[in-house]
Amino acid sequence: MTRADFIELGYLVAASLFIIGLKGLSRPRTARRGNLIGAAGMLLAVVVTLIDQAIVSYWVLAAGLIVGSAIGVVLAVRVKMTSMPELVALFNGFGGAASVLVAGASFVEAVDLGLVDTETSTAAAATAIIGAVTFTGSIVAFAKLRESLHWHGFSGIRIVNTALAAVSLALAAMVVIDPGNTMWLWALVAVGSVLGLLVVVPIGGADMPVVIALLNSMSGLAASATGFVLNNTLLIIAGALVGASGLILTQIMSVAMNRSALSVLFTDAPSASAGVDADEVYAGKIRSTSADEVAMILETAGRVAIVPGYGLAVAQAQHAVSELAKSLEANGTEVVFAIHPVAGRMPGHMNVLLAEAEIDYEKLLEMDVANPTFAQTDVVIVLGANDVVNPSANTDPNSPIAGMPILEVGDAQTVVVIKRSLSPGFAGIPNPLFAADNALMLFGDGKVAVTAIIKALAEA
Ligand code: NDP
Repeated sequence: MTRADFIELGYLVAASLFIIGLKGLSRPRTARRGNLIGAAGMLLAVVVTLIDQAIVSYWVLAAGLIVGSAIGVVLAVRVKMTSMPELVALFNGFGGAASVLVAGASFVEAVDLGLVDTETSTAAAATAIIGAVTFTGSIVAFAKLRESLHWHGFSGIRIVNTALAAVSLALAAMVVIDPGNTMWLWALVAVGSVLGLLVVVPIGGADMPVVIALLNSMSGLAASATGFVLNNTLLIIAGALVGASGLILTQIMSVAMNRSALSVLFTDAPSASAGVDADEVYAGKIRSTSADEVAMILETAGRVAIVPGYGLAVAQAQHAVSELAKSLEANGTEVVFAIHPVAGRMPGHMNVLLAEAEIDYEKLLEMDVANPTFAQTDVVIVLGANDVVNPSANTDPNSPIAGMPILEVGDAQTVVVIKRSLSPGFAGIPNPLFAADNALMLFGDGKVAVTAIIKALAEA
């Protein structure tokens, strides 16, 4: 076996491990093993690449590895669990930026050596536009997830974006037609970067999860295109896997949100400022309750549904809520968890937290399964969720979440909402559910409130 055969075989095994690992990730029971298999594939890929590409000195590689790992370790250790979605958004962006830099450098080198062909220039153009949009779009998504950017752009922004997309395509064509002039490539990167910023800026409310999934997919597609520039089979396959799984996730999110990815990117969404005044919705209609009163209601309940939201992650109330479910079950009550597809701040956020507290997967109901059961449910506990149970999605066509399917918890006999105040959720709008006749507000931190209910139940 020649050295080249050995390297190709190594890449083939690594790619197979990625695919087997991904298959494992599709089921909670096999997810941990899938992750390990994928990581083993990556280790093999790194080793084989180090043997293959002895162009850069190992000292330079080691320096990059040390600096990158140090930054990664500091970020991973310091990041709060609630900031994980922001970190993931940043990782997507860095993936896009890295692809642009690697493919750009390789393209310039090929041009200097007179080795550039149509395949290389097409792949470089694809990397430049996808990678640049991913980088700046992800930075904006990061700021929006941190809730430090509330700007929705200016009127006519979608028209500007359509024009920028057309200019980008024209520049991409020039990279292919006139590859000798590398200025076309850098101009494409510049226009793509502005496009990424302006495409994500107006997006909010129910459209954010779709964009996050799309950016994730694009970071994979950029890497795959870079693989064509470098002629690296493994990068092509690994990037395509990320791109394809991200596209599937985008499709799932779009269907769940009743949106299409294209309409999210290129049509005007209603702005949050068009929303209703909170005082109008809440004045004189809010009934607050206590942990003791909630415990009394729960004691006689035959069926309880718990709806977790982003506040569960903030309060880190997953273990407390697991304990509450156990104590209700010990009392003969049926307990289920109703999970909205975009609850929290990243796809699968609630499933991860509830799995951490070892809550049985059988008890987690998806929205379509849960909705018809609320009418037969005695008590729904809404724990730190807001937008995903907001009925204005059905009733207010100007709402930023208009058309988004929600968990119809209002159909239950009693709804107990646990949150700290009447503050809005991610979409920034008031929630008429809190003022409904069958709703009781238990104000406080999610973990503290649930712990107080458990204590009151034990004392009753
Ligand atoms: P929301 O953001 O609508 O609401 C969360 C609520 O949690 C807030 O109203 C807040 O109220 C409450 N809260 C915060 N901290 C605590 C605490 N310590 N204890 C108790 N409550 C707390 O969350 P949802 O999960 O209902 O909806 C998710 C939103 O995020 C949707 O708009 C979705 O589109 C968006 N999104 C989702 C993504 C995804 O992939 N899942 C990605 C990007 C955005 P208070 O301050 O009064 O306590």
